[in-house]
Amino acid sequence: MNYEIVIVGGGIMGLSTAYHLCLRGIKGIVIVERQGYIGGHSTLRCAGGIRYQFASEINVDMSVENRKIIEKIQMENDLDFKFSNCGYAFVVTDSERVKIYKEAVSMQNRKKIPTKIYSSDEFAQKVPQLNYKDVEFITYCEDEGILDVNTVVNYLYRNLLNYGVEFLINEEVSGISVEQDIFIVKTNKQNIMAKKMVNAAGPWSKEIAAMVGLNIPINRAFQQVLVTSEIEGVNKDFPVVIFSDIGIGYHEEGKGILTQYNRVYDEKMKDSENIDYDWFLKHCRIGIERFKQLEDSFPVTEWIGFYDETPDGNPIIGESKAVKSFYNLCGFNGHGFMHGFIAGKLLSEEIIDGCAKTLNIDVFREERFSNARKHTEVYKI
Ligand SMILES: Cc1cc2nc3c(=O)[nH]c(=O)nc-3n(C[C@H](O)[C@H](O)[C@H](O)COP(=O)(O)OP(=O)(O)OC[C@H]3O[C@@H](n4cnc5c(N)ncnc54)[C@H](O)[C@@H]3O)c2cc1C
Repeated sequence: MNYEIVIVGGGIMGLSTAYHLCLRGIKGIVIVERQGYIGGHSTLRCAGGIRYQFASEINVDMSVENRKIIEKIQMENDLDFKFSNCGYAFVVTDSERVKIYKEAVSMQNRKKIPTKIYSSDEFAQKVPQLNYKDVEFITYCEDEGILDVNTVVNYLYRNLLNYGVEFLINEEVSGISVEQDIFIVKTNKQNIMAKKMVNAAGPWSKEIAAMVGLNIPINRAFQQVLVTSEIEGVNKDFPVVIFSDIGIGYHEEGKGILTQYNRVYDEKMKDSENIDYDWFLKHCRIGIERFKQLEDSFPVTEWIGFYDETPDGNPIIGESKAVKSFYNLCGFNGHGFMHGFIAGKLLSEEIIDGCAKTLNIDVFREERFSNARKHTEVYKI
């Protein structure tokens, strides 16, 4: 089969890229996805958090542009992505990072993001459930919250079907060769030919890049999510709360709490999709230390997912310098869902116009690792 563009990965990045290419009239797109369904691996396991709070300007700009796209789609289609406007709080406990967060809030305010700094006492009036021991302060933005992941994925999928995008599900890409500027993509079922290729394989993007001889620094970091039974006093107004320096987060889910305790890259957990019960116990212990009422709840469900981690916490976006017409859109760590729309738009510009236009993405280009031009993001879980 011959195509203009082959996209590996049917998560938010692959879908959004295809969507923005279609909006610009591009035809002949195929998405190859090895799972038996569309929606991605990380994408369908993510918490749906969307926020403006970042320490680097480019990430704030990504959030602003992403929000504009969401609002435009909702307005033009009379659609509701079910945004739960519960607000987002980053609880700062590391005294050495105080300056970074304060500067980040100033930068966000300059960009008209209404983030405020609260003392523990002030914030305890809003969220009394937390343990504020050793807390420096809290940065909180009320115009942030949670978006419904399934509604977003369904919107993109339905539109792509209407535009005539082909989906090859249950097909795994196992090799890529390039002959006379054409990518020959080998799957478990067939060979696909395409003029351009997008690597949107999320946590497996390193492997896809390696198939064309590229070495991109992405590690699969195991994440484990726990949802509790109902907890008294927890309702839809409960904000997303991230103890970023500790790596634990909480938000409301079905009147209980969804909590995640960040696990940095661990070689031995690389591909495991099983619940790690040692980690579960550690997670419960840390979780209860900061949110005592968790003790009175029981686990309703748990799941695992992977972050596609990069050394500086930022994604890799753009055409490869070494392999012409090969585009990376990966390495979004724990914040790819909230940047999915704009990331796909930027990549579509890169493909059609030769360079992303809506934002300057030089800090996200793959070459930054060899140039050692690091731009580390601290606002994360
Ligand atoms: C527990 C958890 C919580 C998160 N919470 C948030 C949050 O609150 N907010 C936020 O913005 N982000 C969050 N994230 C991050 C977010 O989910 C990701 O950044 C984003 O979904 C990445 O999308 P993607 O399309 O790149 O990857 P994916 O959704 O993983 O899609 C990649 C797809 O590529 C396919 N694939 C891989 N290799 C091959 C191959 N060889 N052949 C064919 N197909 C292949 C995979 O099967 C997969 O479906 C969270 C992530 C996790 C794990």
